[in-house]
Amino acid sequence: MAEPGEQSGLDLLGWADVAMYAAKARGRNQAVVFDRELREEVNDRSRTELMLREAIEMGGLRLHFQPEVDLRTGKVLAAEALVRWEHPTRGLLAASEFITVAEETGLVTELGRWVFSEACRQLAIWQNEYKDLPFIVRINMSPADFKMGDLVEFVERCLRENNVPGNRLCIEITEYAVLDEPERIAKILKRFQSLGLEIALDDFGTGFASMTGLKNLPVNLLKLDMSFVRGIASDNLDGRYDRAIVESIIRLGEALNLGVIAEGIESDSIIQKLLELGCYRGQGYLISRPVPAAELAEMLREGAVAASILRSVETTSVELADLQL
Ligand code: C2E
Ligand code: MG
Ligand code: MG
Repeated sequence: MAEPGEQSGLDLLGWADVAMYAAKARGRNQAVVFDRELREEVNDRSRTELMLREAIEMGGLRLHFQPEVDLRTGKVLAAEALVRWEHPTRGLLAASEFITVAEETGLVTELGRWVFSEACRQLAIWQNEYKDLPFIVRINMSPADFKMGDLVEFVERCLRENNVPGNRLCIEITEYAVLDEPERIAKILKRFQSLGLEIALDDFGTGFASMTGLKNLPVNLLKLDMSFVRGIASDNLDGRYDRAIVESIIRLGEALNLGVIAEGIESDSIIQKLLELGCYRGQGYLISRPVPAAELAEMLREGAVAASILRSVETTSVELADLQL
């Protein structure tokens, strides 16, 4: 990488550090050399960090909303707020393309504050326009958000300033948010609930949460991860496993009185299977991709989404009369 005498000892230690983190990220227990490729990766990451910081400060973030519907009727029950970055050269980026950098650099807390206040601002507008549609806005929070000492006060302030009641909002967390400090996080979640907010456990089944952990966690909803949902309509062995997992999570939800929402619905055969298994709420590209607020407003005006898709799903196997969400 460098000729003797070209680099300071401090530089070398920094590079060694980068190589160590790369080794850890690649599964530990291996040697990684700090080479040109790794240097490029580090440079890329620093550039992304700088640009993301600027985007947060200068208004380069957007919020898109993905509707969650009653799978029997298409009625919009909620909308998940998903952050987007209007990148100056790469176009509009989905969260999956930059949220890890935001988390690793600590920028995610600033990003999280922007998302929360923007979601409240938008909800206040919808609340005025669609008084008879009490749908919920779901907001994702990262583990890092829970490190903020004033998180609950911040949330309270946003609700007050935008004049939105807590029961129109839901916080989505993953099992990773709870892992390190379950008791402290549970207390924060309880304070959210006392403000009226719902708590959803996102990507359920993909983390490390134990059943004891779940029992002690103040949550209202489980979100079935799309990695299970996607396969449930297949006839192969994988499909059978996915169906078994999805069904057991649905039964767990029923037993613990938790709502269950399916994510990643991409075909009507998946909707059909979910209805058969007893899951009536879901979101996914088949129903609608995440869209700007104005497009969601159109769906709200209609009252329901993708009615034609949902109508094509046979609901005869479902006892519509006694279904409860
Ligand atoms: P998530 O909360 O599980 O969100 C669902 C992700 O799946 C979203 O990706 C959404 O666009 C995508 N998706 C929805 N339906 C389908 C489908 O039918 N098929 C497929 N293949 N994908 C689907 P996105 O927006 O890139 O977000 C990725 C993750 O980034 C989110 O996963 C969430 O963990 C995180 N995230 C997104 N927005 C925020 C935010 O505002 N704050 C924080 N802290 N995290 C966020
Ligand atoms: Mg989510
Ligand atoms: Mg998810």
